[in-house]
Amino acid sequence: MTADDSNKMQAEKIAETITNAVMEHRIAPGSKLSESRMAEAFKVSRTKIRQALTMLAESGLVRLLPNRGAFIASPTVQEAREVFALRRILEPEIIRGVISQAKKSDIKQLKEHLKAEKDARAASNRRTIIRLSGDFHLLLASICGNRYIEKMMAELCPLTCLVIALYDVPQTPACPEDEHDKIVAAIEAGDDAKGVELMLHHLTHIENALNLDGGFDDDQVDWDMVLG
Ligand SMILES: [Zn+2]
Repeated sequence: MTADDSNKMQAEKIAETITNAVMEHRIAPGSKLSESRMAEAFKVSRTKIRQALTMLAESGLVRLLPNRGAFIASPTVQEAREVFALRRILEPEIIRGVISQAKKSDIKQLKEHLKAEKDARAASNRRTIIRLSGDFHLLLASICGNRYIEKMMAELCPLTCLVIALYDVPQTPACPEDEHDKIVAAIEAGDDAKGVELMLHHLTHIENALNLDGGFDDDQVDWDMVLG
């Protein structure tokens, strides 16, 4: 491994840590990411931090603003709807791929994941529940056998977490309780139609639980009301 390679690896690791923090709602949408503070926290050079931020910007998780620095993205209502629209296109294909590709070990892994979700719920560990909810969809994507879909899902899941963090109605679970179990049961039964139907229902359920009718977009602000 050359010095350049190890540099790249570390930036990837930093990007991954930030992505996980977003998935667990430990970093709020819109947060400013200070290069110097990050360099201190991660004990790396600012150059490496900049590399990580560039990677995150490419995946849409971070916005780089000239003269202002880096910020965690803060998806608008329109962007939130677009994320769900794309997931509704991709995830039926994922289900079909998983049913045709899944080995016994994959099914076993899916069931272990369901068990982990159940344990996190029993312990009311909200951060873990949120992360595992996203991980379930990433796990399916990793099994489906289409690397491009997997790559897109790796971008869409953290964005979905940001959307949930922004537009969540308090007490709404990340993914409604037993819906993942039902999806795995359909996969195990090899029932494409049922699996796809359940997944679409699941995504619509999550989207409908969010408060996307509120006025979070700039162009929806009622300025007369603001200025009184
Ligand atoms: Zn889910």
